[in-house]
Amino acid sequence: MATLLDGAALAGEIKAQVAAEIKKAGINPGLAVVIVGENPASRIYVDYKKKDCAECGIRSEEFALSAEAGEDALLACIAALNRRADIHGILVQQPLPAGYDERKVLQAISPDKDVDAFHPVNVGRIVSGDYAFLPCTPAGVLALLDHYGINPKGRHCVVVGRSDIVGKPQAMLLLHRDATVTICHSKTLDLGHFTRQADILVAAVGKENLITADMVKPGAVVIDVAMNKNAAGKLCGDVDFPAVEPIASYITPVPGGVGPMTRAILMRNTLEATQNAASVL
Ligand code: NAP
Repeated sequence: MATLLDGAALAGEIKAQVAAEIKKAGINPGLAVVIVGENPASRIYVDYKKKDCAECGIRSEEFALSAEAGEDALLACIAALNRRADIHGILVQQPLPAGYDERKVLQAISPDKDVDAFHPVNVGRIVSGDYAFLPCTPAGVLALLDHYGINPKGRHCVVVGRSDIVGKPQAMLLLHRDATVTICHSKTLDLGHFTRQADILVAAVGKENLITADMVKPGAVVIDVAMNKNAAGKLCGDVDFPAVEPIASYITPVPGGVGPMTRAILMRNTLEATQNAASVL
């Protein structure tokens, strides 16, 4: 039986620390959350983030634009937020509706307020190891590993998925921790050949039951980043949890694993953006 990596509990601890630091420092962090269009999943994520802010003592301001508002209106909104001294973090909820250039929009956010760490300047800093902000999901995964005393140094970490927001930065952060890293993707031939070699396996694809028990080395640490809906409408990951859990040493549940960690790191990034802004005044 694997030990469950309890992201919900650790996220609660991180948010409590963030709240305590904000109170002690007497600062007033502000996070702008920009949402465009009516994507129901985006609405749920934005509401969660606003709730987290309230728990931590972070002022959240929502900017809701209709899908028809257009890219120029969105860019003008971001430019105004960049100029506001009382807004320390800006996030634009993804995905944007069709017709918006996500890269252009992300590049419009000031790198100092880019608490998602998606701006090319922050991506470059992640690659060089000289971080301003850590990307929320991959940093949440590392925080979980650290909390449970799992050291990636010298281990073979296999990351399945190569998106800009999860797979690539995850691989880079693990590399900075001296892991040997393999990245797999949709064109990888014989995925199981690689996943079976993983001491630490990170699944970040978005396909229910992609990772089956025969694809996992006994004793491996299994991190399931994905958030899928199964046929019954229940949240599930990429990993066939009932079959994999008995052979893994550690495993994240879905829900309650990586998801809450992502949100907790966002709160920490917003606090850090506020502290950074104060230090340059
Ligand atoms: P994405 O942009 O769609 O990327 C998915 C990646 O999976 C791509 O690199 C794709 O390869 C790869 N892939 C697709 N089919 C594959 C296959 N059969 N075998 C191997 N690789 C395959 O998704 P994302 O934004 O990274 O998100 C991934 C999952 O994580 C989703 O379920 C998402 O909801 C979840 N997520 C969770 C959190 C959290 O906080 N827990 C945060 C972000 C995302 P190609 O590059 O070749 O297309």
